[in-house]
Amino acid sequence: MAVAVALSPPPLSTPPDYFRIISPTLQVPTPSTGVSVPVGILACQRDPLLRKIETTVVACNVSQPPSAPAGKKSKKAVVAPTLPNEPILEVVLHDTVIFPEGGGQPTDTGLLTTSDGKIWSVLQAKRHGGHAVHYVKINNGELDLSLTAFTPGSCVTASLGQEDYDRRYDHMSMHTSQHLLSALLETRLNLPTLSWSLTSFPSPCYVEVPRGMTVEEIRQIQSEANRLVFEGRRVHTEVEELDRDKKYVPAVLESGRSVGKALPSDYTGGVNRVVVIDGVDRNPCCGTHLPTIHNLQLFILPHTETMSRSSTTSARLYFLSGPRLIEYINNTHDFLSNTASVLSCGAPSVPERVSQVVDERKKAEKRVTDLESELAKYISSGLVQEAKAGAGNDDYIFRKYLPRTGDGDNALGFLSAMSTAFSEQMTKTNTQIPYILVLTSTPSAQTSSTTTVVMVIGFDDTKVKSIGEALKLQLGVKGGGKGLRWSGKYVGVWKEKESTLIDSLLENVH
Ligand SMILES: [Zn+2]
Repeated sequence: MAVAVALSPPPLSTPPDYFRIISPTLQVPTPSTGVSVPVGILACQRDPLLRKIETTVVACNVSQPPSAPAGKKSKKAVVAPTLPNEPILEVVLHDTVIFPEGGGQPTDTGLLTTSDGKIWSVLQAKRHGGHAVHYVKINNGELDLSLTAFTPGSCVTASLGQEDYDRRYDHMSMHTSQHLLSALLETRLNLPTLSWSLTSFPSPCYVEVPRGMTVEEIRQIQSEANRLVFEGRRVHTEVEELDRDKKYVPAVLESGRSVGKALPSDYTGGVNRVVVIDGVDRNPCCGTHLPTIHNLQLFILPHTETMSRSSTTSARLYFLSGPRLIEYINNTHDFLSNTASVLSCGAPSVPERVSQVVDERKKAEKRVTDLESELAKYISSGLVQEAKAGAGNDDYIFRKYLPRTGDGDNALGFLSAMSTAFSEQMTKTNTQIPYILVLTSTPSAQTSSTTTVVMVIGFDDTKVKSIGEALKLQLGVKGGGKGLRWSGKYVGVWKEKESTLIDSLLENVH
């Protein structure tokens, strides 16, 4: 059963001091300028909780997305909604609440409503230079109509539907938690974050650090993080005009912190943006961040995963917060309670019961093996009696086809035990009776995909081999063998036809 994701309620609105312009000359362009708002100060970056904005179209054109490369899927962290293999609209708006991918945070999905009331799906948004481009699905292939709807200057509402907003809220929760986690790793343990990955919901995200961490270190960071969460530290962003000559991010901080990478070289938006968690962290970032960490209880998986690359060894530390943490608890609880119900015990007894069951299973398997070996000896002694009873003539050969029905996991093991027991007992009789036996084991209910195990044993390796080869050729049994034993498998229904053939193969052994 699908479990609804319980979202912690975000603050109702973003506080007005969340977005702070710190250079006097920087302004958010108004619609009348005809210039679109650059990435860095988009509505989604000024007010991360805003779900809707009325704005205007600045530009629109049609493009044909390149067809997705066949075969290997990209290992990119979050799977972006794929673009259809058909013409698509690239729409630039004056402003938007739909975040274009950047800073490790994936693109939003969203909706545009044109002045004629039509609703259009935004499948992706991407930054081109300094501006956000919306990739809009063309409704019913109506290309001309689409271009008319998005004539530059016309009014459009950009919004996040419920699903779009839930997705974004999850991304913001993980992204803001990552800033908090990286800051603590750096300041408390002197561990720089080498990279991070915002994986697809509901997998844990990870930061990559230069070395593995102990459980104690992880617990320490987790409890520090949660202390700050309980305090409800505020988050805000500071923006200023970009001065290309100024180094905003020291290439290497004293502590080695490298998450706040330098601005992308193709960014032309002219804005420098720093995300601040009060008293904890200042980090250049273009992502969308929650205005407070008060919902972001952090859970760090208590182990690191070592990554070995050609020249370096680093470690991944996985973490969860916000909606993903709730989902993880839901899923983990379901796993545990389902297992407890299968085992008919309470959840706390599950580990003990599982080890008991594994133990019992091992004992049961041993009992089956012991009984099978006893049965194998019993059956083979009957065969030996039968062989001896017929002995007498010089050219006598004991020929026997012994079909068995069996549903065990180890049919070949049982047939092997029988053939070993038979040849041992024959050796003990000192009668040197020549023999050739075909043993089979077929499941009780047969379908076209059931497997029958076949084994041939005999006193002469060429005779064993010739029967094996005949089974291969005439029945399609797949197998092989060496010396006095040949074994194989037959897939399909094993019936009279197969049995008759074996009888006649045995008759022809001389
Ligand atoms: Zn960031």
